[in-house]
Amino acid sequence: MSDYAQRVLDDLKARNAHEPEFIQAATEILTTLKPVVDRHPEYEKAGLLERYVEPERVIMFRVPWMDDKGQVQVNRGYRVQFNSAIGPYKGGLRLHPSVNLSIIKFLGMEQILKNSLTGLPIGGGKGGSDFDPKGKSDNEVQRFCQSFMTELYRHVGKDVDVPAGDIGVGAREIGFLYGQYKRITGLYEGVLTGKGLTWGGSLARKEATGFGLCYFVQAMLEANGKSVAGKTVVVSGSGNVAIYAAQKITEMGGKVVAMSDSNGYIHDPAGVNLAVIKQLKEVERKRIREYVNAVPTATYTEGCSGIWTIPCQIALPCATQNEINEASAKALIANGVEAVGEGANMPSTLEATAAFQQAKVLFAPAKAANAGGVAVSALEMSQNSMRLSWSFEEVDARLKDIMVGIFHKVDDAAKEYATSGDYVAGANIAGFLKVADAMMAQGAV
Ligand code: NDP
Repeated sequence: MSDYAQRVLDDLKARNAHEPEFIQAATEILTTLKPVVDRHPEYEKAGLLERYVEPERVIMFRVPWMDDKGQVQVNRGYRVQFNSAIGPYKGGLRLHPSVNLSIIKFLGMEQILKNSLTGLPIGGGKGGSDFDPKGKSDNEVQRFCQSFMTELYRHVGKDVDVPAGDIGVGAREIGFLYGQYKRITGLYEGVLTGKGLTWGGSLARKEATGFGLCYFVQAMLEANGKSVAGKTVVVSGSGNVAIYAAQKITEMGGKVVAMSDSNGYIHDPAGVNLAVIKQLKEVERKRIREYVNAVPTATYTEGCSGIWTIPCQIALPCATQNEINEASAKALIANGVEAVGEGANMPSTLEATAAFQQAKVLFAPAKAANAGGVAVSALEMSQNSMRLSWSFEEVDARLKDIMVGIFHKVDDAAKEYATSGDYVAGANIAGFLKVADAMMAQGAV
């Protein structure tokens, strides 16, 4: 690594020693940016990397809410406004008990490059809370969301910061958050994306991350003389990203044989019945183990990581960060995996990524492969500004163009600055160059 990038990373590790996920994401990004800073010595004088890794603003706040028994509960809320060089902050809100500042900062820093890759004018941010929506009543979720927005509203706005969904935040939560923003500010504006279709949402937003992942993976396979058709596929998770990735893979002629949730996974060698998964997860909010009641030929196994021991040619991790460690990567490689497409953010550890790359597995990194969600969120912002709604087909066609475009940007940057086929370096470099150019143009302070 260049002296400059290494120095910034060493400093970041010392100053954020208690933030392992943030350090992990920064290590990958800074390591791959070496050829860029070597070619642009002016970046060091401008302190560009130091500025890149430090959020513009971190907001942490108390979220008190009353449960159904009348007991007041308190959670911690976060919004990290990381970088606004190319547009208003944009990135999801995550509700999960594991949420802490390290996780929100890693997600926010990844989001800067992802949003840049879409080619759309959006900066990077992320937020959330350690509130766990699982097991809570609709009323409890509503009270939490209203309290969360009662603080957040003063920091967001359609031209300032536009949050969206992420783990634990779907249409229900976005509705409660939006209602509270409108109630407090009196503004009917596109302050959130992922809205309902009758009140400003975009067609194809729900499907966008999963569909976009498949468009990216197909473009990557085609560039390497392969295709999704006829391939056996394992998809982890059974949330928003996983369900629509599984749907598009099936439409492309692949066969999804396994899916999971945070308790365990189902294996259905005949091909997962998505109608059953959607009913369980989107309608009834039940556990995936119930799948075998509807499809008795399938099996259920408790625990998550075993899903990566199921033989497949394409693996799509769509659950959460660090769900594929080195051992899981080696199991996939031993079973002949040809391509990995990251639907979740940072689902592979640094060691797992290295193992895939050494084994010449085609590896599509999250910030490029899962950019479809935020891309359609930006299209939702455009439609809100124009007071227009585009058809599903129009949004889907734009999404496909954007994802294929991202693949080519990433592929070209890998060839120009790193190694052909190193899409991790390609994504970091292509995303960074645009942000760096804007930061240089806008001055240092
Ligand atoms: P959802 O909440 O809809 O689904 C998450 C899925 O992952 C659920 O099946 C959940 O299981 C499982 N999961 C969550 N945490 C864990 C864990 N610790 N171990 C194992 N499984 C877990 O979230 P999304 O589908 O929206 O998000 C999934 C990933 O995709 C995240 O990394 C997110 O950041 C990323 N992403 C999402 C985008 C979007 O548009 N939604 C855009 C870009 C990236 P359970 O139900 O048991 O909790």
